[in-house]
Amino acid sequence: MCAAIYAARNGAQVTIIEKNSCLGKKLSMTGNGRCNMTNLDMREDCYNPSAEGRMKEWLSTYGVEDVISFFKSMGVVVKSEDGYIYPISGQAMSVVNALENEIKRLGISVNFGEQVKGVKCLEDGRVKLTTNKSEYETDSLILAMGALSGPKSTMSTGDGYYICKNIGMSIKETHPALVGFKVAEGEIMPSAGVRATAEISFVLGNEVLTSEYGELQLSPDGISGIPVMQASREVIRFVEEKKPVFAVIDFFPDYDESDFKALKADMLRLKDERSLEEFLQGFANSGITDMVLGRMKLGRKMKMKNISVSMAECILDTYRNVKIAIDSCYGYQASQVTTGGISLGDIGSDFSCKTAPGVYCIGELLDVDGRCGGYNLQFAWTSGSIAGCAASL
Ligand SMILES: Cc1cc2nc3c(=O)[nH]c(=O)nc-3n(C[C@H](O)[C@H](O)[C@H](O)COP(=O)(O)OP(=O)(O)OC[C@H]3O[C@@H](n4cnc5c(N)ncnc54)[C@H](O)[C@@H]3O)c2cc1C
Repeated sequence: MCAAIYAARNGAQVTIIEKNSCLGKKLSMTGNGRCNMTNLDMREDCYNPSAEGRMKEWLSTYGVEDVISFFKSMGVVVKSEDGYIYPISGQAMSVVNALENEIKRLGISVNFGEQVKGVKCLEDGRVKLTTNKSEYETDSLILAMGALSGPKSTMSTGDGYYICKNIGMSIKETHPALVGFKVAEGEIMPSAGVRATAEISFVLGNEVLTSEYGELQLSPDGISGIPVMQASREVIRFVEEKKPVFAVIDFFPDYDESDFKALKADMLRLKDERSLEEFLQGFANSGITDMVLGRMKLGRKMKMKNISVSMAECILDTYRNVKIAIDSCYGYQASQVTTGGISLGDIGSDFSCKTAPGVYCIGELLDVDGRCGGYNLQFAWTSGSIAGCAASL
């Protein structure tokens, strides 16, 4: 939509071919229905290492302020929540509607329910496009088919990969990312959903793959929440290769060692007639306490006076080091972005395909994935605007 608008504003005659029955289905679901459009803290290192070098240039061509102005030009006022940019309406649909109205205003045709099947570069420099309904010839073609992430209704079925492969582009192996993980069978977890602020590290052998801080969501069979989703981009490859990856959780991330020592000393004053359950009732969320005691195989009715000081300290210390074996992720449909995709080596600085003159590739179809927080949509706007302008020259 963004590419089409920029191309049409530059005077090109544009047609959008959309296999869904509406425009912007995924966009309408973003940011829990609020659409986190971009982020004021925009840095190239918020993207995958293979894209970082290219993102620096692309973001300097079309960055956060350009996105905000673009939407302002269509009447969408934005607000910042700690740097996370949302439409002030709080509704992702207002972003979708603004784009759709601009598309109508510019006279861009939209063919709904039509699926692109193949692309061929012709000798005269034009591009031939085959769909399930028709064939077209055009001066320029922008492929913006997304990737594999999101619910079925978004039509994210990875069509772009085989189409691009057939015109000589290479595809880097894909994985779901910004996704939660299922824990290994037998892991003791809370019996119902629990949210808690924590630091979570993912480890493989002695190596810490990555650490994140924030609100975790623990369920009987898995872990999710923003910190897990952020970490998933760096961990997923090892999980999918079935390597023994563990999550190590610290439920007292805001305490340094001496603060926690003082907290333990305070707690130990309560080592009397009371039960272990009573002792821990105000120390942490009860679901987390159930998980900790279950893992340590301790009965909640044990009397504190019968528990040694070192054992009581060990129980409290466990809240800082809960180690959970990871089994798998929740899959593409539960993920927000796909890692991997069309190799950036095949893409020019204006998103043109080096192997297919006249064809451009943008958005999530490419091997670019960003952190959670508006970074993936920023890349969609950046690549869409640059390619839209280039294709209309
Ligand atoms: C639940 C969820 C929440 C998210 N929240 C955020 C957020 O708040 N902020 C953020 O930055 N990112 C978010 N993302 C990620 C972001 O939505 C995507 O990175 C972005 O939408 C990618 O844009 P795109 O245009 O490349 O692809 P898409 O948005 O996937 O659009 C691709 C379009 O191509 C169409 N299509 C596919 N194949 C064909 C074909 N063969 N022929 C014709 N049409 C075809 C599809 O129907 C679709 O309309 C979220 C993702 C999900 C799933």
